[in-house]
Amino acid sequence: MTKYVYSFGGGKAEGSSVMRNLLGGKGCELAEMTNLGIPVPPGFTITTQAWAAFNRNDRAFPDGLLDQVTSALEKLEHDAGLVFGDPKRPLLVSVRSGARVSMPGMMETVLNLGLNDATVEGLAAWTRNERFAWDCYRRFITMFGDVVLGLRREAFDEHLTALKSRLGVKSDPEVPAAELRKLTQTYKDVVASRSSKPFPQDPRQQLELAIRAVFDSWFGKKAIEYRRINNIPPDWGTAVTVMSMVFGNLGETSGTGVGFTRDPRTGERRFYAEFLANAQGEDVVAGIRTPEHIDDLARRMPEIYDELLAIAGRLERHYKDMQDIEFTIQESKLYLLQTRAGKRSAAAAVKVAVDLVHEAVIDQHTALLRVNPRDLARLFVPLLDPRDKQAAISAGRLLARGLAAAPGGAVGQVVFDADRAVELAKDGQRVILVRPETSPEDVAGMYASEGIVTARGGRTSHAAVVAVGMGKPCIVGASDIVVHEERRVFEAGGRLVREGEVIAIDGETGEVILDAVGRTEPQVSGATQEFLAWADRYRTLGVRANADTPEDAARAREFGAEGIGLVRTEHMFFASDRIPIVREMIMAPDTVSRRAAVQKLLPFQRDDFIGIFRAMDGLPVTIRLLDPPLHEFLANPKEYREMIEERARLEALNINPARKAALDEKLAKIDALREANPMLGHRGCRLGITSPEIYAMQVRAIMEAACTVAEQGLKVEPEIMIPLTGTVGEMKLTYDNTRKVAEAVLVEMGGPCTYTIGTMIEVPRAALIADKIAQDAEFFSFGTNDMTQMTFGYSRDDVAKFLPEYLQKGLLPHDPFSVLDQEGVGELIRIGIERGRRTRPGLKIGICGEHGGEPSSVEFCHKVGMTYVSCSPFMIPIARLSAAQARLRAREASAEGAPSA
Ligand code: ADP
Ligand code: MG
Ligand code: MG
Repeated sequence: MTKYVYSFGGGKAEGSSVMRNLLGGKGCELAEMTNLGIPVPPGFTITTQAWAAFNRNDRAFPDGLLDQVTSALEKLEHDAGLVFGDPKRPLLVSVRSGARVSMPGMMETVLNLGLNDATVEGLAAWTRNERFAWDCYRRFITMFGDVVLGLRREAFDEHLTALKSRLGVKSDPEVPAAELRKLTQTYKDVVASRSSKPFPQDPRQQLELAIRAVFDSWFGKKAIEYRRINNIPPDWGTAVTVMSMVFGNLGETSGTGVGFTRDPRTGERRFYAEFLANAQGEDVVAGIRTPEHIDDLARRMPEIYDELLAIAGRLERHYKDMQDIEFTIQESKLYLLQTRAGKRSAAAAVKVAVDLVHEAVIDQHTALLRVNPRDLARLFVPLLDPRDKQAAISAGRLLARGLAAAPGGAVGQVVFDADRAVELAKDGQRVILVRPETSPEDVAGMYASEGIVTARGGRTSHAAVVAVGMGKPCIVGASDIVVHEERRVFEAGGRLVREGEVIAIDGETGEVILDAVGRTEPQVSGATQEFLAWADRYRTLGVRANADTPEDAARAREFGAEGIGLVRTEHMFFASDRIPIVREMIMAPDTVSRRAAVQKLLPFQRDDFIGIFRAMDGLPVTIRLLDPPLHEFLANPKEYREMIEERARLEALNINPARKAALDEKLAKIDALREANPMLGHRGCRLGITSPEIYAMQVRAIMEAACTVAEQGLKVEPEIMIPLTGTVGEMKLTYDNTRKVAEAVLVEMGGPCTYTIGTMIEVPRAALIADKIAQDAEFFSFGTNDMTQMTFGYSRDDVAKFLPEYLQKGLLPHDPFSVLDQEGVGELIRIGIERGRRTRPGLKIGICGEHGGEPSSVEFCHKVGMTYVSCSPFMIPIARLSAAQARLRAREASAEGAPSA
């Protein structure tokens, strides 16, 4: 016969912490505490296995379960010294749900079960407290009605509220016994009339119905929703714990509370708790009454307070983690009713982990695995104040939801174009840029803004990538927003929001909110620095940054970057003093004039590189040669429209033929450069091959900068990276061209400066022929944004149109542009690494897509043997911790897999 029921009580328990899956979190820790000799009321737990059988059996209790419950109940009566249903000294129990992971408040609990018209009188006489007995009875009917019979709580509570106002009292404890007795009769009438059956008087029947209801609560709406959000499998099920009631509502020497062994907001080491005198636990949990400060308990019952602190400390040392406990005091005797690892803020997670190491409770290894890497990003940016935000949403101020693209909270006036953003920011205004989408010419406006919202685009759209790099909160693909640029308004949530109106955005959740919301400032504590230093000690995977400017580079270094994995040279082309020259270069009718324009860009590029090399003294810097299609630099849609309009005007008026001819030529060029599919078009090394003077200028700028900085006594390590290689021919030709220019510069400048030439692996074909590519390429960097795009065949700028539905239908587990697709794209990476290193053992290999800052992707990079990951400066702490965790987990796995001695 399967054992479905595990008892605890009298200082001994059949279960323990290790039986979490079977007994649920609550049940197993009650057993564990009992075995530790901590005061816990006796009881028993029905296993999740019983739940599974019940669920399989069309909601019938499995054979033997009720018999086992009967025996466990007898033992419970013995331990408690009371008898269930006894009219003189009745045993009352609580029936509590408990899954293997905690799902706070998601499932149901019934208190004071076992009361009926007879036992309530017994309870009153035995405790000599009539008010208390009737208070328990009315609570029980309410909870039973709600949880078991499916009646709304309000159906009962409205009578209590009416009664209180009739009596002119504010709080529950002021209602006298006689009134509660009458109220209970009213409650029973409510049950009888609404459920067409009288309130069950038989305690045994009450118990069976309650067990069934708790089993069923696994499929309650709240619980299903919670599981979906938290990725909890639906077949885990819940255990049910039945335990002797202890009464916090027995008068002024009784009470109930909840507490954390450390402050869950900051991690500070102090008991953080709330307490309610003369109340049952549900009052605290449900927020019915405002709890008192725990100091109140210290004043009222100092010995109990000391005992509670001692137990809290003991539990923390035993579980080696911060605990969240529930306790109840019955007539000056303390009982523990629950303990679990406490939920905590990101800052607290780090602080608690570091402090526990200093207190010699856990080792660094354990501490590193305790913190969720994603949480670290939150420590470096301001966030929206959660309470304030919730209040705003409750008040109906939510305008739209989009994809959360870059963490942090921002508040500012709405602007619709980059120029306006720059203008207002100069005046010291805070602005949020709201656009249908962004393109490279918006970058200055994005810099000037507090945050960015786009109606279109996915997580690797221009807006998302650039915002992450800048550390600006960003929401993309907010398709509920319709932007009317000309009218300077947007529509969302049935509202019209004008330029200058204030909105708040949460880049972590994707919420756009009308009006200001308070913010919390980032705090990079000493604990965080220390924690990250430990991560560095454990990881073997390198961490670099994607950075395009000396400022970004300097910041990356502060965050702990060990080099730059990607400088996107084109980002330097958009500055206002450069873009005219870039256009001149593109428009040049012949090679000679093109060369002339290119030469004008050289000093700009050289200065940029000098700045970056200086900032990265002693560390490697990977610079990618020009990558995007030239079309992107030519004219933005507005300029293009204006040119068309001007030409039409000139034509209609038949004036200024010279101007018209110039316009014709310009427009013809723009039209000629336009591509149906620019991301698969004339870009990357293809550009370098058809217009070699551009790459030649860039290589010269890099090498001149490197020699200049080296002469000043700094250490430079340039890595010149060729984008979008797909064939051996492309690789060889571009490599040779690059080498020639680089060598020439070295001879001219007489500088001994080492450099390497490598390539991005982003075209799937390049991964497949990586052995041949590696004959020239001296390093690889996987460009997983483009590689994901080309492997799936999903345009990254349009993916937001169908991705949400794909995710919702479960067709994809994640957005592959934020979480690396290990199965498909990852296979190409494995092949690329293996073949590349076949030709060149020890080949330096990195990743520079958005995935370089995503924990599961970083773990993958560690496993496949990459040399480093590169991500935006703000993601570096995430990458450092993820890399450490990857190594620690791999070590644990191999230790487990090893044959035992
Ligand atoms: P939840 O998981 O929603 O917190 P619980 O099962 O922990 O639900 O119970 C709800 C409240 O009832 C808690 O405050 C708990 O401490 C209290 N409670 C549960 N069982 C008992 C009991 N045997 N005696 C007194 N209070 C109890
Ligand atoms: Mg609880
Ligand atoms: Mg690319």
